[in-house]
Amino acid sequence: MINSFASEAATGSPSRGGRPQTVAEPAQGGGWLLTGRKTFSTLSPILDRFLTTASLPDGTLGEFLVRVGPGVRIEETWNTMGMRATGSHDVVLEQAFVPADGLMEQTEGREPKKRSSDGSGWLLHIPACYLGIAYAARDYAISKSLSYKPNSLNGQSIADLPHIQDKIAQMEVDLRTSRTLLYDAAKRWDEQPDQRAALKNELGLVKYVATNAAVRIVDLAMRIVGGASLSRDMPLERMYRDVRAGLHNPPMDDTVLRNLAHAAINEYRDNE
Ligand SMILES: Cc1cc2nc3c(=O)[nH]c(=O)nc-3n(C[C@H](O)[C@H](O)[C@H](O)COP(=O)(O)OP(=O)(O)OC[C@H]3O[C@@H](n4cnc5c(N)ncnc54)[C@H](O)[C@@H]3O)c2cc1C
Repeated sequence: MINSFASEAATGSPSRGGRPQTVAEPAQGGGWLLTGRKTFSTLSPILDRFLTTASLPDGTLGEFLVRVGPGVRIEETWNTMGMRATGSHDVVLEQAFVPADGLMEQTEGREPKKRSSDGSGWLLHIPACYLGIAYAARDYAISKSLSYKPNSLNGQSIADLPHIQDKIAQMEVDLRTSRTLLYDAAKRWDEQPDQRAALKNELGLVKYVATNAAVRIVDLAMRIVGGASLSRDMPLERMYRDVRAGLHNPPMDDTVLRNLAHAAINEYRDNE
């Protein structure tokens, strides 16, 4: 298993193109010494290697494969409301040695990395993850709505009530729309390898639609279950906390929307 640790306090999301404060200096005898701090380092407690970014003395940016060892330590800073199990702590690099062949890629700056040049279809794990939470919330709410028969309803379950069915339907609209978009983008990415780069906007749209829908779906599930959903003995309160994190994974909403606007404007101009 491997992950990429690119976020830093000074850059925020690396997708914005900020320059890493982590620096790589040539080591005596070859290779590199990396010094800096990476934030949001998901799975850092269990990984034995990771990719990370650093600024080189000549002003270029490098992506390095770092093996956990001397000069690499974790500070357990991940004290968040949700996605706690991801262990996304800070990784501190203190002259961590990377051999010369650990410099995987060197770029001038903002231009895309080679591994992103295929539209980054692998990023679909993000909408898939949050839709999975949304499905679980939907199933839990439906199951509860069928079994909960308050005595005010004379033997009926709350699933028979129009306002509950409206909420179930709203969840379905969001779920089916998101799932259809997700599967369509994944299928196109798989089946049309030469078109992958052109799918970037579609992939961003899936992430935007799915993560925002997932937040709404968990909210609706909690409204269906009622006050009991607040209990820490029930799964919905954790889903409510976890699903928020999707809003802060890349690509960010404003970037997706701006790219879609540019594409629409360009399409119109091309057809003028
Ligand atoms: C559960 C989880 C797991 C993660 N795992 C990883 C990981 O494994 N590796 C990794 O590298 N990162 C990881 N991240 C970090 C993630 O990719 C982002 O770097 C992080 O969430 C900060 O991005 P942000 O937009 O929320 O905040 P910031 O980038 O700090 O931005 C804060 C605010 O300022 C705005 N803003 C900042 N800069 C700009 C700009 N240039 N233009 C417009 N608006 C701007 C943002 O829109 C936002 O409103 C993870 C995040 C989460 C939540």
